[in-house]
Amino acid sequence: MSARAKSCGPCTFCCKVLAVEELAKPAGTLCGHCAAGCTIYETRPLACRSFECVWLMDPEMPHRFRPDLTRVMLDQDHDGARLIARCDTANPMAWRRGPMFAALKAYATEHWGTGRIAMAVAGRRAWVITPTGEIDAGELEPGAVVSVVEGPDGKVEVVTRPAQA
Ligand code: SF4
Ligand code: SF4
Repeated sequence: MSARAKSCGPCTFCCKVLAVEELAKPAGTLCGHCAAGCTIYETRPLACRSFECVWLMDPEMPHRFRPDLTRVMLDQDHDGARLIARCDTANPMAWRRGPMFAALKAYATEHWGTGRIAMAVAGRRAWVITPTGEIDAGELEPGAVVSVVEGPDGKVEVVTRPAQA
């Protein structure tokens, strides 16, 4: 629950798609403390206390984008250079549906060429969303950092580098 105008309500999507190091909980596995909400809410790890998805943070983002409704959780990486549409591996292409895909393409169009990119991730699979479609980035190593390079001929290449120490 948040002190902001929005609250998570019945959504627990991040409790599945995110890893929680303090609990040794891997990404993509529903947390063992999740049962119609957090059963250890008062003592939940710091990572859980401090996390808010983009939907929760953005007062302008409509209710229909709440992650349990879209099956997509929008997240930003630490340097803000990547908007990441995190999906459940049980539903890995949820990011490609209706208003969510339109929103991701709109973001890609607005930020293309600035160093900011929109991505979708389901487990280790990743895609980069471009103004005109998407590029399959294949399987990423945990923590790998993704960027795009556009050649003079307009050809776009996805570049990944290992997690930073
Ligand atoms: S995914 Fe967002 S809305 Fe859903 S529980 Fe997590 S922070 Fe709340
Ligand atoms: S500890 Fe609670 S808030 Fe954190 S992932 Fe588990 S159920 Fe979710």
